[in-house]
Amino acid sequence: MMAAVLYGKEHLRVEPVAVPKIDSGDILVQVKVALTCGTDVKVFRRGYHARMIVPPAVFGHELAGDVVAVGDGVTKFSIGQRVVASNSAPCDHCYFCRRGLENLCEDLLFNNGAYAEYIRIPARIVKSNTYVIPPHVGYQDAALVEPLACVVRGFDETAPREGDTIAIIGLGPIGLMFAKLAKLYHCRVLAVGRRRTQLDRAAALGADELILATDHSDPVRTVRELTHGRGADIAIEAVGKPQTWEWSVNMVRRGGTVNFFGGCPNDSKVNLDTALLHYSEITCKASFHHTPAYIRKALDLVSAGHITASFFVNKEEPLANLLEVMRHLMSHNGHLKTAIVP
Ligand SMILES: [Zn+2]
Ligand SMILES: [Zn+2]
Repeated sequence: MMAAVLYGKEHLRVEPVAVPKIDSGDILVQVKVALTCGTDVKVFRRGYHARMIVPPAVFGHELAGDVVAVGDGVTKFSIGQRVVASNSAPCDHCYFCRRGLENLCEDLLFNNGAYAEYIRIPARIVKSNTYVIPPHVGYQDAALVEPLACVVRGFDETAPREGDTIAIIGLGPIGLMFAKLAKLYHCRVLAVGRRRTQLDRAAALGADELILATDHSDPVRTVRELTHGRGADIAIEAVGKPQTWEWSVNMVRRGGTVNFFGGCPNDSKVNLDTALLHYSEITCKASFHHTPAYIRKALDLVSAGHITASFFVNKEEPLANLLEVMRHLMSHNGHLKTAIVP
């Protein structure tokens, strides 16, 4: 079969490799679509991800496809079913798993290799994080379940109330998913982005105010002006830069909540005003990854038609073009996802 193999920094090849062998409990899935993700672009640029992937390795983690083989003992799935499988599964018995923090599992099992004709889904992921795709849901919609699960969990962790004003900084696919959820939840969305096209996308999803962040603008002041000087109830940082982490803290009202959702480069430091944090009682959260319950919840949202690929995926490319796609995504910001079709 053809598969993308990541060899290191900006080095990948789509080349023939053996179809993965499956063991008992595993399933083999013929990939119908794999979606590009900001994490993949980051990994491509850096050449590795300490926890998720160490090259040389097959690459890609957001996928949907058809079951073509099942290992011994698999009763949940059968050949021919359309399925979506998450990129990880927790161990279910460590300290963190027992506390419902499966995203922080000490032995989180990651699976890569979605940019390929076939992918092996290991038994643990088959058991806890793989689902049959409802007949009315497309492969691209289903493949959104993994990133959406991270977003839905981050949204819940931030504990919004209906009618809250939520500032969302960063309008890539993740920020846009937050905007969509916030509107579903009847919140007021102040969308902060660096590009007109991104603000237009946020508007299409129902964002109430569009704030263009340029080198000469002051988005913190704009958010305050739009909230009677008070600040937003919640700020979601979906960029992953120290500057925007700092903005998010300065954008919320007294008693407000910040979610540092975007992971900054290693060793980044931020400057936060301790008096502001203390006397204004600002709650700072950071959300990472997903849990099985949120994979389920995300699939329910997709299944109900609330989240569709039309808003988050705007290109389709054959697997053979993956290297060019990654280079393009790396050198130009402001993209939606590309659907890679093996
Ligand atoms: Zn992803
Ligand atoms: Zn665990």
